[in-house]
Amino acid sequence: MHTRIVGTEGIAEAVAVLRAGGLVAFPTETVYGLGADATNATACAEIFRVKGRPADNPLILHVSGAADLMALTEGPLPGTAVALTQRFWPGPLTVVVRSNGRIPALVRAGLDTVAVRAPNHPVAQALIRGLRRPVAAPSANRSGRPSPTRAADVLDDLAGRLAIIVDGGMSAAGLESSVVDCTTPQPVLLRPGAIGYERLRETIPTLAMSGSGTLARSPGMKYRHYAPEAPVVWIRSHDERFVRHALAARGPDVVLIAPDGPWAEAGEVKRIIGLGGTLEEAGRRFYAALREADREHPAAIVVVWDATGGMGLAISNRLTKASAEMVVP
Ligand code: AMP
Ligand code: MG
Repeated sequence: MHTRIVGTEGIAEAVAVLRAGGLVAFPTETVYGLGADATNATACAEIFRVKGRPADNPLILHVSGAADLMALTEGPLPGTAVALTQRFWPGPLTVVVRSNGRIPALVRAGLDTVAVRAPNHPVAQALIRGLRRPVAAPSANRSGRPSPTRAADVLDDLAGRLAIIVDGGMSAAGLESSVVDCTTPQPVLLRPGAIGYERLRETIPTLAMSGSGTLARSPGMKYRHYAPEAPVVWIRSHDERFVRHALAARGPDVVLIAPDGPWAEAGEVKRIIGLGGTLEEAGRRFYAALREADREHPAAIVVVWDATGGMGLAISNRLTKASAEMVVP
C-alpha cells in the first residue's frame, strides 16, 4: 500500500476512508493519532495490527465534545467527569467512564469502561464531525516507539501500512493527554500528560496520583514504551557537576538531550539536542528529540531531566518507560 501525506484539503477524502472502515493518521494537539471508526470492530482491529499493539491495551475514543460523551456512557456522568470536561475540553484530557456497550469490546480491551477525549485541533475536530461517530485513535507510531509529533514521524514508522496521513504541522503540546479515571469515588490520574497534576487538582482537589498499585487499571502503562533504538540513559539531576561526571563516564559516543543549562558544555558528546527553556517547550520537542538522536546511531542517548511540576511529570513518566538505565545522585 502506498502511503500519501495530504494537507487539510484532504480532510473530505480522509473522512471517506474512515467511513469505509479504513485507517487515517491525523494531527492532534498532543501527538499524531492513528484513527478508525470506533464503532467498527474490524477497522479498529486493524489499528492493533498496524501498530503491533498488544490486544490488552485499550484505545482512546476521540469525540467532538461533551454531548458525545453522554452517548457512550452508562447512566448519569460522574460529577468529576462533568467538571473536568467543562474545564478542559476541548483539550489534552481523557476521562475514563463506564461504557454503555456501544463501543465494541475489542476497542476497550474487554474492560467495561471507555477512555474519551475531545481534541483541540481543527483537523481532528473536522474528521470527527465529518464521520459523525467517535474516532478510536492511539498514537500513530509502531508500538513501543516514541510517539509521532510530525507527519514525517508517522511515515517513518508506518509507511506502507495505511493509505493517508493528514499533515497539520507539529503537535503543539507534544505529549499525550492526561488520563483520569472517573469511575471510582476518588478519581485517579492514571497517566500524567499534557495537563499537569496541579492544574487538574484545581478542578478535582481529591484527585489521586496513580501509584504502582493502580497501574494495572491503565493497562498501557505496563509495557516498555516511547523508546528509540539506542538505549536511553536518564540522568535525573540538574546539578552541573553531577551531570558532568555522569557524562564523562559514558564516553563521547552519545547524543545528549537536555533543557537549556550549563550541561550544554558539560562534556564531549556526539551531538546535543536542546529541549529549550520552558516545560512547554520541552514537552513539544521531547519525542522529536528522541527520534532525532537515533539518527546519529549513538551507543546511548543521554537525557538530562529532573522536573516533576506541570508537564515535567509527564516527561519524567515517559522517561521511566523509555529508559534502559536511570542515574540518580
Ligand atoms: P495511547 O493512545 O497509546 O497514547 O494510550 C492510551 C492510554 O489510555 C493507555 O495508557 C491505555 O491503557 C489508556 N486507556 C485507554 N482506555 C482505557 C480504559 N478504558 N481504562 C483505563 N485506561 C485506558
Ligand atoms: Mg501511544
